[in-house]
Amino acid sequence: VPESLPILQKLHDFELRAMAGQPPVVWDRAEGFQVYDAWGNKWLDWSSGVLITNAGHGRKEIADAISAQAQHTLLTNYCFPSAIRAELCERLVGLMPEPLKKIFLLTTGSETVEFAVKIARIHGHKIGGRSKNVIVSFEKAFHGRTMGSQQVGGIPVLKEWIGNLDPGFVQVPFPDGYWTEDTSFELFERTLAENGVAPSQVCAVILETYQGGTAAFAPPQYIKTLRQWCDGHRALLVFDEVQAGFGRTGTLWGFEHYGVLPDLTTWGKGISSSLPISAIVGKPELMDLPNPGSASSTHTGNPVCCAAALANVDLIVKENLPHNAAVVGEVLQEGLRKIKARFPQAAYLAGKGLVAGLACVKAHKQPDGELAHAIVWRCVEKGLLMFSPVGPAGCTIKIAPPLNITAEAVREGCAVLEEAFEEVLA
Ligand code: PMP
Repeated sequence: VPESLPILQKLHDFELRAMAGQPPVVWDRAEGFQVYDAWGNKWLDWSSGVLITNAGHGRKEIADAISAQAQHTLLTNYCFPSAIRAELCERLVGLMPEPLKKIFLLTTGSETVEFAVKIARIHGHKIGGRSKNVIVSFEKAFHGRTMGSQQVGGIPVLKEWIGNLDPGFVQVPFPDGYWTEDTSFELFERTLAENGVAPSQVCAVILETYQGGTAAFAPPQYIKTLRQWCDGHRALLVFDEVQAGFGRTGTLWGFEHYGVLPDLTTWGKGISSSLPISAIVGKPELMDLPNPGSASSTHTGNPVCCAAALANVDLIVKENLPHNAAVVGEVLQEGLRKIKARFPQAAYLAGKGLVAGLACVKAHKQPDGELAHAIVWRCVEKGLLMFSPVGPAGCTIKIAPPLNITAEAVREGCAVLEEAFEEVLA
């Protein structure tokens, strides 16, 4: 859009280069599952920002709660208790099954992952001494961009710059059945052995409930075995639900698909559909390991963010958005299966509920980031909004609409995506 060029130019001039590469759509406002720019253009949103607006864009209930709290003139506090922080903690813990009944509020997803690492290390030290300090995570995993969360992650280019990588972080292949064909649990045990890690040294295993870069879930049996393995070796099992939580996968929590409970779980993104707030939730005996006074962060329990999260959770529960995600998610998968069947380049489809990943490959499973990029850009030109492709070499077209999208809008989006494949491959 020519009118947006001065804004794009300003960002180019003043913002660091690392922010480049976003589809050039300058959002002005957004409602439901539509995004508008200031010049009369409109997009069907398949991004939810970046999986944030689970309850839909521009929800009046959330804006009203934010505004009421702001007008109430209590805008910040963390060194002192507040009623709204207490209310949110109770509300969120109330959504969790026993025994996951203690919570800590933070600001970003990355911080929650780092806090999980801290708890795991304290737990390991307490029961096994210095050597029980290894955190096992999965290759290709994304857990955030702060130093600690990048160490947990399994994407080499994201952490090459860190230097002095902590040897206490080990990655194993993620059993998605496509990029890693072997989905047996032996691969987990064998990879640890190859890395010289004894099971007794592991203090925690951390995984995204589905991998953000592919939208792939692990086979439930693998996760059940992993749960038993963790119990047997007194290692914590941590599900990073920063993306999967709050209804995204068709159930309130993503881990429900596996039929196991984690010891700790991390939340962010969809928790408020708006302002930055995150949380870690877990078993009281673990959450209470850090000493009093040793955990708080400046924006913990920010009252305006708490108000947004409370209003958001009310909408997700009242409108049963996880159910809508499950039902409309079937329509999405059906549309994507059709595209996959038609174009051999769209070789790998994963996801559940309202998250999906369609990976573009060349022969022999070579990731085709260029094709994925061209298709996403074509969709954006045609009025279907997605963020830049993710995953191996940026080859995954990632789909994550607000959870109140309709089946009709999803069918419409699939038709646009199919046309984009046709046109780009013509
Ligand atoms: N974990 C997962 C699974 C994520 O998807 C993300 C963000 N994409 C993070 C952690 C980090 O969250 P944040 O960007 O809020 O720090």
